[in-house]
Amino acid sequence: MKRIHLSPRLMAVLQFIPVGARIADIGADHAHLCCRALQEHIAREAIAGEVRRGPFQQSINNVTELGMAGKVSVRLGDGLDVIRRGEVNCIVIAGMGGELITEILERGSAKLSADTTLVLQPNIREPLVRDWLNLHGWQIVAETVAEESPHFYEVICARFSGNSLPPLSAADRLMGPILIHNRPGAFQRKWADRQKKLQEVLNALEHTVPTEEILLKKTECINTLHLIHTVLGAGKP
Ligand code: SAM
Repeated sequence: MKRIHLSPRLMAVLQFIPVGARIADIGADHAHLCCRALQEHIAREAIAGEVRRGPFQQSINNVTELGMAGKVSVRLGDGLDVIRRGEVNCIVIAGMGGELITEILERGSAKLSADTTLVLQPNIREPLVRDWLNLHGWQIVAETVAEESPHFYEVICARFSGNSLPPLSAADRLMGPILIHNRPGAFQRKWADRQKKLQEVLNALEHTVPTEEILLKKTECINTLHLIHTVLGAGKP
């Protein structure tokens, strides 16, 4: 059987799926992740959920071509509407903005249970995802950064704690508590890159008429740069 190729980003998502899991990949697009998770015997069952008809049909074509039509259930629908509560124990939501990921989780929260593992890969606005998890009692248990030059992608894995969690610090919500602790190379490169870009923005703002909006933007840049500098400068705890 043809082995499905995954990008480094989706490989990073795959590594957080617990072995033997029943997974739902929400926004599956091509269903490649579901197919590879089954091929690797990581997932035991897989549901590929898609809201758009084009990618839904593409997923059906892909799983059929791979001879996996009986193994991957491809479903058309919005967010977690495609699953019943308790049907899966791992939900993957990857390749979307942090806002959309949290909207999907919020609207589908009745489908989440204490044994669910969430594997989330926001392309942007990662702090929104961490805020949502923290506020709803989901403990971040693993994080990584995948590098696909020139892009960096964070992957966040969370399990339900059953407790109300202490608020995340500004550094933890921006850069990730586990990532700050482990400091993998891609994490350090991501934030060194972000520092450089923020410094360029700040330099450009210095030469702009200081309206209220510009001053606010400058303060944001300075605060974020300070935060990154403090975390990167602190070294491994
Ligand atoms: N998850 C794949 C990945 O990481 O490569 C695909 C990412 S693609 C950029 C986002 C996919 O999510 C699109 O196929 C889009 O149609 C789908 N999507 C967006 N909103 C959705 C929703 N509310 N429910 C299900 N799928 C959604």
